[in-house]
Amino acid sequence: MTRRRGLSIRAKITLWFSAFLVVIVAITYFVVLFVSNQVIQSGVRDSLVETVEHNVDEIEYYASISEDDLADDVDYFVNYGNGFLEIDDDFLDEINEVYTSLCLADGSLFYGENPIQRDLGEVAFVDGEVQEASVDGITYYIYDRELTDEGLDGLWLRGVVSEERGAVQLTSISKLSLIALPSLVLLAIVGGWLISRRTLRPIQQISDEVAQIREGEDLNRRIDIGEGTDELHQLADQFNAMFERLDESFAAQQQFVSDASHELRTPLSVILVQCELALEDDSPSAEEAREALEVIQRQSKKMSRLVDDMLDITRMELHSERYEKETLDLGELVDDTCSDLALIGENNITLTWDVPKELPVYVHGNSELLTRLLVNLVGNAYRYGQHGGHTQVKLMTDDGEWCRLSVKDDGIGIADDEQKRIFDRFYQVDGSRSSDGSGLGLAMVAEIAEFHGGSVQVESELGKGSTFTVTLHTEISPAEND
Ligand code: ADP
Repeated sequence: MTRRRGLSIRAKITLWFSAFLVVIVAITYFVVLFVSNQVIQSGVRDSLVETVEHNVDEIEYYASISEDDLADDVDYFVNYGNGFLEIDDDFLDEINEVYTSLCLADGSLFYGENPIQRDLGEVAFVDGEVQEASVDGITYYIYDRELTDEGLDGLWLRGVVSEERGAVQLTSISKLSLIALPSLVLLAIVGGWLISRRTLRPIQQISDEVAQIREGEDLNRRIDIGEGTDELHQLADQFNAMFERLDESFAAQQQFVSDASHELRTPLSVILVQCELALEDDSPSAEEAREALEVIQRQSKKMSRLVDDMLDITRMELHSERYEKETLDLGELVDDTCSDLALIGENNITLTWDVPKELPVYVHGNSELLTRLLVNLVGNAYRYGQHGGHTQVKLMTDDGEWCRLSVKDDGIGIADDEQKRIFDRFYQVDGSRSSDGSGLGLAMVAEIAEFHGGSVQVESELGKGSTFTVTLHTEISPAEND
């Protein structure tokens, strides 16, 4: 199934990232302007206060002055009250757009400059405090100082500065921000786009390689995105591990199908041959017909058992979750199963069993599967055991963590080199092929032991007999568990 191609992850990430960045930068721009404005205005007010305070010391009163002083063209003298005011040449009537004027108590200008003197008449004098007044839509800061030295009564110094003095600085900050911030955004977006291309390239590679593996149905291929340990390399490793598993199970499945067909072919050919022989004979005797039917019945049973075993083993492998586990007493299970098996003892073989009587042996397992395991092992002991011999089942616990279930016979035994292979599916030792076994019994035993977290071993000597031992994890009793 192919999906319609939408926006790539890379485009989506870049879009989201850009939108986010634009919002952040816009907020930053306004915050920068606001804070700068605050700082600049506070600077303007400070310079106003500073200038006026400076000028306060530049005015002095003299009741009388000498001719020499008057001739001094540096300082400025003006009549006031009964004497003179000396306005020092350091008096700053206009500096950095801060205007200072000497005013009379009624607000009228006495000396100095004030570009908006006319409009500020109504603003009352307040000593030592910055006031604000609006003239023609422009805000002005006003700072007044009452002169209190002797002879200066009734005089005020008024400083005025327009709020706009800081506007020039603010405009340049704003211009700079409007150039710098979008450039940074652009740079970040281009950088993000390039980085995301680099980072996400392996995804495209993985997707392409998976598609190739799918199209070519070549499970041997592996994804190669180079060295690395990041999430994408981990993803590629996971894919490769999955292909490995698929490859293995695919091969195992093919092997199973071919083995199964092979195993079914023999009884089928026997049945076919029997049918042909029986049909060739126009008037077979009742005995001949019966013989043929018996052969057919035997081979059909063999096929039926083979199919049952195949279904069981496949079910175990593919749907092991269907087998629920519970805490069960293995001693009891061995007791019950062996009692039944003893009744159907083949080859005149005696079955004895021995389970610990003092304590129950609890395992966490599935009773149906564990019964099956024991039935298969005892079934083999009957089948390959000595005629009139003895099969012994034993359940032992060692350190309380593990228990061992062994099935010992005194039969034909298994050669050393065969011992490794008898747990393979469909494997039968030469000479056993004629038996009615399917070659799946021990594979099933191994599978069940593994399903329970355990294992199975064999010890055997040709002509003397074999012992199969299954090791399983024991559980503490349900009561202790509570
Ligand atoms: P089968 O259905 O042929 O018994 P199994 O998987 O149970 O298949 O056993 C595989 C082979 O291992 C058998 O064909 C037999 O040759 C050998 N085998 C299994 N159990 C015993 C035993 N107790 N004694 C001797 N040989 C055995």
